[in-house]
Formats: sequence, C-alpha cells, structure tokens
Amino acid sequence: MDLKTAFRMSAQRASERIAVVDGKKRYTYKGWMNRVYELGNVLQRLGVTKGDRVLVGLKNREQSVLALMALHVVGAIAVPYNPRSGGPTVDYYMRDSGAAGVFFEEATEAALEEVLPKFPECRFRISVDGKRECVFKGCPDFYDLEELLRGDEVNEPSASVSAEDVGLLLYTSGTTGEPKGVPLTHEASIFRVLGLATNHGMVFDNDHRVIGVMPLYHTIGFHGSFLTAILYDGTYYPVPDFNPGEVISLIEDEKISHVFGSPTHFHLLLEHPDFTPDRVASVRDAFYAGAPMAPEMVKKCAAMLTENFTHIYGNTETYDSGYYRRAGCKPRAARQGMWHTVRIVKPGGSAEDVVSPGTEGELIISLHSPEAFTGYWNKPRKTAEVCRDGWYFTGDAARYDANGDWFITGRIDDMIISGGENIHPAEVENALLQHPDITDTAVIGVGDERWGQVVKAFVVVKNPNITIKEVDQFILKHAQLDRWKRPKQYMIIDSIPRNASGKVLRYLLREKYSG
Ligand code: AMP
Repeated sequence: MDLKTAFRMSAQRASERIAVVDGKKRYTYKGWMNRVYELGNVLQRLGVTKGDRVLVGLKNREQSVLALMALHVVGAIAVPYNPRSGGPTVDYYMRDSGAAGVFFEEATEAALEEVLPKFPECRFRISVDGKRECVFKGCPDFYDLEELLRGDEVNEPSASVSAEDVGLLLYTSGTTGEPKGVPLTHEASIFRVLGLATNHGMVFDNDHRVIGVMPLYHTIGFHGSFLTAILYDGTYYPVPDFNPGEVISLIEDEKISHVFGSPTHFHLLLEHPDFTPDRVASVRDAFYAGAPMAPEMVKKCAAMLTENFTHIYGNTETYDSGYYRRAGCKPRAARQGMWHTVRIVKPGGSAEDVVSPGTEGELIISLHSPEAFTGYWNKPRKTAEVCRDGWYFTGDAARYDANGDWFITGRIDDMIISGGENIHPAEVENALLQHPDITDTAVIGVGDERWGQVVKAFVVVKNPNITIKEVDQFILKHAQLDRWKRPKQYMIIDSIPRNASGKVLRYLLREKYSG
C-alpha cells in the first residue's frame, strides 16, 4: 500500500469531515484532497518527477502538510527540516539530499537566502506566505503558493507511486553530530501509522482531533500526529509555535482528543498558570516520546491530563519500538511495539549477548520490521556501523526489570537531548574551540526540569580575564551553531579529563560537576 492510495481512500470515506484546521481555516477532506492534488499538478508542471527531493522548511501549518502530502502523491521525496536551522545546516541538507526545490516561509528565508545561490540545480522556491515582502520576489524561480493554487477542481496527479518508493527523508542528528538522512518508503510510513494506532488503542472513525505540536520534521510529528489523524478520518490541528496558554485554549475550544508531545511540551502545559484539568477534559489519549520524562511528571500527566497517558520510546530509524500504555502506573517502563523485536545486549557485544535483568546494556532493535529504515541516505559506512546482523544498534543504554519491561537509562554515546532535539557534544565543542581564548573544552548534558537536558560547557582558558558572558556572546553569534544548541551553563576548569588516546572522559565531568 502507498500513501497516495491510502490518502485517496481516506478522503473518499470521510469526504465531508474536517481534515485540517489551521487557525480560522477549516478544510474538509474533499476540499483538502483537491488542494493536495492541485499542488501535485503544479509540482509536476514545475518539473518534479518521481524520486526528486524537495526541502520543506516550514513550521507546522496547513501548508506544511499540504506540501508533504502533495510530494508523496506525485512520487517525490519530501525533506522536512527544522525551521530554526541556520545556513550551514540548510546548506548540508541541500547538498546531501540534492534538492530540486524548496518550500519556505519568513522563518526559513534568511538561511535559504544565504545558501540557495550555491545551488543552481534547485529549480523552484515556493513561499507559503508570499503576501509579505520577501527577498526572493522577482527571482525567476520564485512562486507564491496561494497564487499557484486557484481552487479549481482538478484530477489526481497521474504519477505512479508504489509501496516501495521512498516518500520521505527525515534528518536526524543522531549520535555522530553530522545529520543523517533516514529515507522512508510509503509502506514504512503506513506501517508506522498502523503500529502506533494499535499499540496505543486508537480506533477507526472515532472523531480523533489531534493537535500538531510535535514538529513535522520528526517522525512522531509526521507519522504519529498528522498521518495517524488523516488515515483514521480524524482532524489535524497544526500548531506553528508552541505557546502553552494558546495550546490550552485550542484544546478547550476544539475539544482536542489526542495530544502527542515531548516531555518539554507536557511540562510547559501542566506548569502553565492557565492549566486546569477541566480545560483539557476532552483529551482522551496523550503520548510522550523523544526523551526521558521525570517519573513525578509522568504521574502528574496521568492524574491531570488523562489516565491514558502513554510512554513511547522510538527513533527516526525504527519508530515506535517501545511503548507503555498508562505510563502513570509504571513511569518510564517500555515494552516492544507491535512490529518490533527488542533486546538489550552487552555494550560492544553482538546481538546474541543479551544481558540479564538489572544489568545495563545497549538497546538493539530488529530491522526485520516493516516500520524500520533500511539504511542512511548516502552513508553506507554509518549504516554498516549501526545496522549489524539484522539489528539496529540504538546507542541507548537500557536495562530489563524482573518482569521483562525495560527502561532507558541514558546514551551509550553522549548525545544530549534538549527539548526533544538532539545535540551532539562535538558540534558545540567545535564552535567553542574557535574562540581565541579557549584552549580546550568538553560539553555534557545536565538534567533540567524544563528541557529534559541542557548543554553544560567546561572550558579551559588561556586568558584568565575572559568572562563567561563573553564566551556566551561569541557562541550566540557563531554562524555554524544553531542558537538553540548553545550551552545554558558554563564552567571554567583547569583541564579536561581525557584518556590515553585523547578521548574526553565525560563521565568524570558528570560525576565531579553535575551532581
Ligand atoms: P530521534 O531519532 O530524533 O527521534 O531520537 C531518538 C532518540 O531519542 C532515541 O535513540 C533515544 O535516545 C531518545 N528517546 C526517544 N524516546 C525516548 C524515551 N521515551 N525515553 C528516553 N529516550 C528516548
């Protein structure tokens, strides 16, 4: 099954129901399907053909899901990315994916302005908010989305699309620091929807109203929130900027039934002064994923939001590999998901070296799953490193309890997850080392109630008069490091602990300084 067919079936079945609500705009399935098809036809006229990659640099809004679906419908490959990415990151996405075109908005325009002159092969740039002043206006390859769409009734684009075709390329910063593209076929996307819906007790034709706070460039945002709503006849409410007060009002006004979020989202919602259980009483199911959540917070969500508060453990590569319904009863526990076989093995060992309950090991996930990827985009060496003997080695540390449930305990490597986003120490360290007065540095993630983790930087300086404020200013202006990756804490120390081969001993920093 491919998404083009699945979407058509859904839209025919639910024709008069509301598919997408964005602010004051409400689209029925029938009307929205026409919009998707109209954009699909436009893309074909712009020369988009099967397998072409197109960057989608948009916040969560109707136009984002419109672009993502239209690209699937014409057999192209949608490449959504974090709108907060700076020029060097977007440059990497353009180069690595070989993009044939881009969708953008005000928030993503500046980075693209910096980068696009280097990519003459990029044939079109479509603004979804073209009415404002825009630096690209007048460029021969500039288009305004709403001018391209006239609202005419159109036919489904004629492209042939099959289950095995790749429809989506999601970038994950993973564990190496350099983003890795995870290509996903139409079939993998459909199985991701089915698996999640089954694990988490969703049923068909049940007036799902799903709020889209998880970003669409994350698998949970695209598959868990958006596609699960659309393939189950539900309604998707994209939220471009997460403002907890507004989200509470939207949940109340629109009687939202399903909320998928990161631990940070739930923390911000429940701690907001406007939050009361009454205002969110319509929420039947809520799901958190992406990072560990403090057990007290899990219990609070179960008590104040919904008892159907589900824990999802997943990743871009294999998706909803672990879950626990009613997470409040056993915070942080997970069991393997519908399409998954999961093991915990000795770090550095093979898939057969399964550890005994209570012992920490590395979580590995069988690649014999219809939800799983088959390898990174353009990265055979990286693929071979993490995909071995039919298993995906996650790099996550975990342990079983006596019942066979498992718990994530940290990272085998040192990736920091802040607000649900991955930050690799190396990218922050490389930026810090460019300061003329810093001679050595190492960063770690330290626990933070609001963000899950924040970056803490240890620096060794040659100028004793340098202040932390100056270092922070330097990092804020650093062109290679996205602003949200910068350290929130600093400490000047005498030397960075390293082993004989020069590798930073981060655990020593953690033990000594992060309490
Ligand atoms: P991503 O591919 O960006 O979704 O990141 C996947 C990584 O996020 C996993 O390998 C874990 O390190 C982390 N992660 C995802 N879900 C959880 C969870 N429920 N608890 C702890 N860590 C998680």
